[in-house]
Amino acid sequence: MSRSMLIVLAGLSLALAATGCATSTTRHPVIVSDIGTPATGSDMNASLARPGIVTFQRIRFARWTGGRGTFIDRNDPLTDDVPKGDEEATIYAYVVDHPRFGRILIDTGISADLDTRLTWVMRQGVNNLDIRVEKTMAQWLTGQVVPKAVFLTHLHFDHVGGLLDLPVTTPVYVGSGEAQEQSRANLVLGPSTDAILRGFGPLREWAFQPDASGAFEGVLDVFGDGSVWAIRVPGHSAGSTAYLVNSVDGPKLVTGDAISTRLNWEAGMPQPVTAAARANAWTSADRLRRFAATHPAIEIFLGHQSRTGQREPD
Ligand SMILES: [Zn+2]
Repeated sequence: MSRSMLIVLAGLSLALAATGCATSTTRHPVIVSDIGTPATGSDMNASLARPGIVTFQRIRFARWTGGRGTFIDRNDPLTDDVPKGDEEATIYAYVVDHPRFGRILIDTGISADLDTRLTWVMRQGVNNLDIRVEKTMAQWLTGQVVPKAVFLTHLHFDHVGGLLDLPVTTPVYVGSGEAQEQSRANLVLGPSTDAILRGFGPLREWAFQPDASGAFEGVLDVFGDGSVWAIRVPGHSAGSTAYLVNSVDGPKLVTGDAISTRLNWEAGMPQPVTAAARANAWTSADRLRRFAATHPAIEIFLGHQSRTGQREPD
């Protein structure tokens, strides 16, 4: 989700937000993750030289059309030369099959039941987005191996909404500080996030340690074998997490909304975030771009668009 989507949703409940205090992204309980070994950017670099052992697949669930100001910061002079217009956005999830640990999902697509968990205010905001669902997580799951775990890039509804179609016994992993981020917008957004997570066990928070190489804030070797890495990239949200997957057909970098569109990645445009989050968002995007530039074999998967020339999933 983008900052302006948050603003639209929050604006619908201005009276509530004006009188209330900041609150957390979710009140759902959080525990420290049981998996993931703290590592460095150098360790992650070294893993790229080894053959991949997991498979990787991107799935497309839904699309919506949003004004460019949803994705780039129109208050930043850097965006002055970008013409007005719309951007096509897509809701994706990613499937990783590990030979020992089984199937995991990165993000969750969307569920037909999402409406039932949204508060009235949030439902109006989401309906205004005119999201065109192509398939739900429940439809995709038909005939598929049930995932053993979900790794989230962050807790916005367009990344967690498909959880409703997964068994509530599925462990859900999230970036550190994501659940606890305080904002007034959460007065509107928080209850719906709580409702989506209802019935699931506590969120398992990645236990990042400072990355001694300085490449990122923190890097985790998720399974301890170099196949999947969680990368701390705060800014779009406090616990935004990217994932590097060393797949059998080459390394794949899932950026989440740390970088959501081609304008943000290829043209280097800043995304609209709060003043307090701006420096983090810029630094995280810069670090991801540098990492990719150093390793041109990595295929990049942006939060809501395909890259120029990249094959769009069916
Ligand atoms: Zn988002």
